[in-house]
Amino acid sequence: DASSSGKVCTRFDLEKETELRFEVEAGEAVDQVELELLTGMAEVFGSELNRNKKYTFGPGSKIAVFTWQGCSVNLYGKPEVAYVSKDTPMLLYLNTHAALEQMRKQAERENERGPRVMVVGPTDVGKSTVCRMLLSYAVRVGRRPTLVELDVGQSGVSVPGTVSALCIERPADVEESFSVQAPLVYHFGSTTPGTNIKLYNKLTSCLAEVFSQRCEVNRKASVGGCIINTCGWVKGSGYQALVHCASTFQVDVVLVLDHERLYNELKRDLPHFVRVVLLPKSGGVVERSKECRRDARDEKIREYFYGFRGLSFFPFSFEVRFSDVRIYKIGAPSIPDSCLPLGMSQDDTQLKLVPVTPGRDLTYHVLSVSSVEDGDEDARKSIVESPVCGFIVVTNVDTQTQVMKVLSPAPRPLPRHTLLIMDIRFMDMK
Ligand code: ATP
Repeated sequence: DASSSGKVCTRFDLEKETELRFEVEAGEAVDQVELELLTGMAEVFGSELNRNKKYTFGPGSKIAVFTWQGCSVNLYGKPEVAYVSKDTPMLLYLNTHAALEQMRKQAERENERGPRVMVVGPTDVGKSTVCRMLLSYAVRVGRRPTLVELDVGQSGVSVPGTVSALCIERPADVEESFSVQAPLVYHFGSTTPGTNIKLYNKLTSCLAEVFSQRCEVNRKASVGGCIINTCGWVKGSGYQALVHCASTFQVDVVLVLDHERLYNELKRDLPHFVRVVLLPKSGGVVERSKECRRDARDEKIREYFYGFRGLSFFPFSFEVRFSDVRIYKIGAPSIPDSCLPLGMSQDDTQLKLVPVTPGRDLTYHVLSVSSVEDGDEDARKSIVESPVCGFIVVTNVDTQTQVMKVLSPAPRPLPRHTLLIMDIRFMDMK
């Protein structure tokens, strides 16, 4: 069968409570795959499909089309795999949403705050997907939940190396997930919390504080609660970071995906009033290789500057004089305790601002533009705890003329002149 666009077309008839899973091959010269709902009702990760509308999925997409009542769909193009599964944990996920919704109703009645939920588990268990579903279900019943993104490796909200919060006002877009307008973003600087766990915990606390303040003045946000997506690092300091997050956000519910030991540990270590729930992962979640994750991170940065599919951005390239900016790295390299100056602890070194002298090795690094006011010396102390207003990439450094060239989403001048360097680099191949 062939569609009008000349692509191969395959029809799938799905029984109730089953899902069609398909993957689009990764790579550049790969054809996109289109999805069309013909009859019945279906959803992709909690967002309903419109009938007779073609949804396009690009290289590397891994999608599940789930139906509660049964439906038929067409796929146009050649997916790498496509199969129907009857075995999905969707009913458990929906029940979880129903339980959270009960908590919101109760919060509304009793003038309390709604559920704060932390989603945890190792890598590739579908944490982000579960967050997306729970958030979309919540907005579909009129709630305004907040997504807290603590996954510094694969952020769904901003570029990698950041933690952030986003108020969710409409269900995720089927093709592009949540529309990211005015998120609150903090600079972390690397793709794993382990590089600076003190900073990671500090930023988690900052987000918790800002969220709590918002809840105090915004009843809908308070009742909506939050869904916190975490990193897949669940041992040692990674585990401690989860416990810290639970405490600083005062979470009520922890959803543990597919990890019994983690479930038992959290049950043991969190206060008894925190509901810790073990949920299975979906068999559809596909393991992603290191390269795959790196590509996804690169793509996220490219999107920040260039936009995606329907929405193209045109970034600017201009020169910045070294003397006009202050560049810092957060955290001094750790030194043995015995070498620390009297009265100083390791914590202090991890949160310390270290001035960076611009040199050739700055090339390709992503820099966060801090929101602190220029020239506000008092603010220096709080740079670490201030949100960022955007990102630039250094594309060239000329030490002779003391000038660097940057890629920026906005034309010159930079809105602020305090920059924080990330470990993360981006090579602009466009
Ligand atoms: P990370 O370790 O990077 O945080 P994660 O645990 O958050 O990963 P997800 O990002 O939610 O995992 O899912 C991994 C991939 O699997 C995504 O590309 C997602 O689209 C896909 N996926 C999730 N659920 C299903 C499903 N039921 N069928 C097919 N693909 C799925």
